[in-house]
Amino acid sequence: MPIKSRIRTVPDYPKKGIMFRDITTLIKDPVGFRLVIDNLTQHYLSNGVDFDVIVGIEARGFILGGALAYTLGKGFVPVRKPGKLPADVVQLEYELEYGTDKIEMHTDSLVEGQRVLLVDDLLATGGTALAAAGLVEKLGGVVAGMAFIVNLPDIGGEKKIREKGYDIYSLTEFE
Ligand code: 5GP
Repeated sequence: MPIKSRIRTVPDYPKKGIMFRDITTLIKDPVGFRLVIDNLTQHYLSNGVDFDVIVGIEARGFILGGALAYTLGKGFVPVRKPGKLPADVVQLEYELEYGTDKIEMHTDSLVEGQRVLLVDDLLATGGTALAAAGLVEKLGGVVAGMAFIVNLPDIGGEKKIREKGYDIYSLTEFE
């Protein structure tokens, strides 16, 4: 697998027992980066998911989402950690395994009914993607799909997201 084989696994990061799937080794390689963007571009040109704008999740979602917005001729909107966006924001707090986290978008970043493709590098529990979807919906947007490089299906995020009726596409999976 030309994409999967370029992803580095870092054991015990960020804590013991976690196998971190590191996509920096994939995207530093011009062939790897092109494979990722070409594959996602082809998918969204041909699969009938209709959307107006790409929403990328900080930080690796910016790298993919930016390139994909360019190839598909869409705009790009960031989802950021608190305190990073300069104008008025809407915030959403969501549960983590231990504690909570917050994400923000500019209040005027979407218009009512605008269709969104959410983009991030990896799907694990689905907590981040579902929080971002919740924020998009709070702003009146409609989540048309979610795209990832890596899906970790055993962790259960994909199932949770599909049960909520969202469309998902990913390029590769790890156990
Ligand atoms: P989730 O919210 O689905 O549990 O975790 C996904 C989020 O955490 C994504 O924003 C992703 O960037 C980050 N993440 C969690 N585990 C990994 C991993 O093994 N590799 C990478 N690249 N990101 C991860």
